[in-house]
Amino acid sequence: MTDPSGKLSPEQAFLAATSHEIRTPLNGILGTVSLLLETDLDPAQKEYADAIRLSGSRLLDLLNNILDFARLDTGTSEIEPERFRIAELAREVSELLAPRAHNSGIDLGVVIHSGVPEEAIADAGKIRQILFNLVGNALKFTEQGGVLIDVRYVNAKLLFRVCDTGPGISRDDQDGLFDAFRQTSAGDAQKDGGVGLGLAIVKKLTEILGGSVWINSQPGNGTCFFVSIPIEDASDEAIPSSQLNEPRRIVLAGLAPATALSAWASLSQAGARAHIVENAQQARQARPDVILAAADLPERSLRALMRIAPVLVVMRPEDRGLMSRFHDMGAAGWLVRPLRHKSLTERVELAAQGSAATDDSAEPVNGGRVLIADDNPVNTLIARRALESAGFSVSVASTGREAVDLCESLAPELVFMDLRMPIMDGYDAMKTMRREGMDMPIIAISAEINPDIERRARACGASGVAAKPLNADALRRLATDWTRKSSGAA
Ligand code: ADP
Repeated sequence: MTDPSGKLSPEQAFLAATSHEIRTPLNGILGTVSLLLETDLDPAQKEYADAIRLSGSRLLDLLNNILDFARLDTGTSEIEPERFRIAELAREVSELLAPRAHNSGIDLGVVIHSGVPEEAIADAGKIRQILFNLVGNALKFTEQGGVLIDVRYVNAKLLFRVCDTGPGISRDDQDGLFDAFRQTSAGDAQKDGGVGLGLAIVKKLTEILGGSVWINSQPGNGTCFFVSIPIEDASDEAIPSSQLNEPRRIVLAGLAPATALSAWASLSQAGARAHIVENAQQARQARPDVILAAADLPERSLRALMRIAPVLVVMRPEDRGLMSRFHDMGAAGWLVRPLRHKSLTERVELAAQGSAATDDSAEPVNGGRVLIADDNPVNTLIARRALESAGFSVSVASTGREAVDLCESLAPELVFMDLRMPIMDGYDAMKTMRREGMDMPIIAISAEINPDIERRARACGASGVAAKPLNADALRRLATDWTRKSSGAA
């Protein structure tokens, strides 16, 4: 195999090559099942397809964890500092995991406390992985309630807290929890299908970064993982986060706790005064300029709130179909969970001024021309079906050369570019396209995404990078976001 980073030892190169070979068909299975699940299935068929999806994603998680652990265990992992936005990183992790949370009815929110630098210099890739593993675990073990990512800056260190309302972990089980292959009980091992590597990876990564990780948990009271990592504050040149024009009064009604906390923190930072209320009477007393209300409140309550102030309905991405209903009811607009600071402040400002405040990302898809470059026919089938069902017109290339030629003749609005392809790989294809002046967004996709690959892909002209497997929903979301961005609507 070619080593994209040029830094792998023979053992790592072997691991990377075999893992790629295993992941390719596995991604095919997962993608195809995601398509199958969108067809009309009877309840028994749906249950079987769900079981395939679940086992497949567990197998993929497992494979990824084993690889990460092996890579870290060889001790060759280097610190790769870069400038990054802390709040963005935390929100990216929550957005990546939000579909998993929403599927199981778990609330997921991010709170960034004031004092957290806008920008920092540290190894963002490793921090992202730490957070991803902890939030992934929290979602895996929590059956009811929510998961909160809380970010502070204390003594020149970034302090992450990932708290959940799950089963908690007893004192005995906490001993050795961060050791490899350690699980709290045989029951857990059977339940989630993990191998006990997630926390060992978190511990190793944290140590490499010169930080520490610890836990606070009691059975029945949920679990909080704490991670503290030294970072260099690099905020000087940062653009301040969005602010409201006036100190608005905002009421938060019916939002699940993690979402409410996240909105509260975000609005406070934007200069608003936010109040969490239990009912319409309390909402009225707060004399709000704008109300953020949960989409699952009873219609009667929503209507009562709309008589008090403009209401922004907060919904899950899956509830987009309900938008016209809220519109007819008189909502001033809507926001999609997980809330983004920028959209939140913009919509609140618009609603306070009496303008329509719809979250762009929630508007229906208009379609557009998309080119998929991938030599694996299963992947292209999945992508084609997923995108065509959302109104996109799709063309397919199976080599980089073909992708360049098709882009010239078709001028698509968006390209999904697999990085490994015969004749001309994705890196070279992107370089050629950029050199020839093609400026459409290109999303590089790869079974393996690590900071090296990401950096190299961006250097070759990728506008974004996404890891396989991309299920039907994720593909549609990416296509919608990027075609809208390129048309200047975002
Ligand atoms: P696994 O691959 O089994 O998830 P981890 O190292 O990530 O391995 O976690 C080890 C064990 O710690 C898990 O099997 C589980 O029993 C327990 N655990 C981890 N996170 C949580 C959590 N948020 N709530 C409850 N138990 C947890």
